[in-house]
Amino acid sequence: MSNTEKPHQLVSSLDCPAAAIAPVLERVSPHSTDVGGIQVNRVLPRRQRRLIGAWCFLDHIGPVSGSEIDLHVGAHPHIGLQTFTWMMQGEILHRDSLGTEQVIRPGQVNLMTAGRGIAHTEDSVVGQHAMHAAQLWIALPKEHADTEPRFDHYPDLPRWREQNLDMTLLIGTYAAHKAPTKSFSPLVGVDLQVIQAGQVNLELRGDFEYGLLPLQGSWTIEGETFAENDLAYLGCGRRELILESPANGRALLVGGAPMNHEVLIWWNFVSHSRSVITQAQHDWEADNKSRFADVPGAVKRLIPPPIPWRE
Ligand code: MN
Repeated sequence: MSNTEKPHQLVSSLDCPAAAIAPVLERVSPHSTDVGGIQVNRVLPRRQRRLIGAWCFLDHIGPVSGSEIDLHVGAHPHIGLQTFTWMMQGEILHRDSLGTEQVIRPGQVNLMTAGRGIAHTEDSVVGQHAMHAAQLWIALPKEHADTEPRFDHYPDLPRWREQNLDMTLLIGTYAAHKAPTKSFSPLVGVDLQVIQAGQVNLELRGDFEYGLLPLQGSWTIEGETFAENDLAYLGCGRRELILESPANGRALLVGGAPMNHEVLIWWNFVSHSRSVITQAQHDWEADNKSRFADVPGAVKRLIPPPIPWRE
């Protein structure tokens, strides 16, 4: 997806704030924005919460159903991040400047590692009448920010039933399970689907910070209820998390080791340096194909707003 909301913000996040070292329970409310013709709830970044580990962006798309889904995100570049798409309903066609063409279907993850630079498009497959997905960005650590771009599709992820949940491990490790998904920093992402409402107890790592996003239904944590799209930020230092799950509920647990350096987000670029972002924007505006090759089949090219700092 593309970060097209206004005002375009330069998000700067300095690492592990003191508050993140201990367990906390903070409510982070999303805002609604349009991406490629469809309303999404943007959960990260928000003023009160920029990062959860290296997770630096979280759009919850749908669930929507009824009329035909018409999602079209024109060609746009990324650097310094991985785009991570978790599909729950519907199908999206991804195409990129490496020549990749991949439809993502429910239960699958697409992972695009932008590294030094990649461009892509995303379009709903014709004839879809429902869509439910989450797209997240993962900031690459400084030492891997310039890695070669690549695209990975994961059609089969670890799935198991535990307590009253169907769990799918999207990235990282959880208990004895390990996902194949390529990551550059310690991270985890787990989809939780409720079989029967009731109490569940999740295993956490004390050195990770975590957030739980209700995707469907209202979930209760330590007596506080979190509705759909209200992120519960949990901080670090927890070994377990006790939740009250709702009937037909679904939630996304994300976590990771707190970043130890600043992360800048401008438009669709993530970096540790403004000058790197400025150069990427110039290369995209100048249509520098040695950095951002054409995306086959693209009919539209997205243009960034002007750089908001003195170059
Ligand atoms: Mn994108």
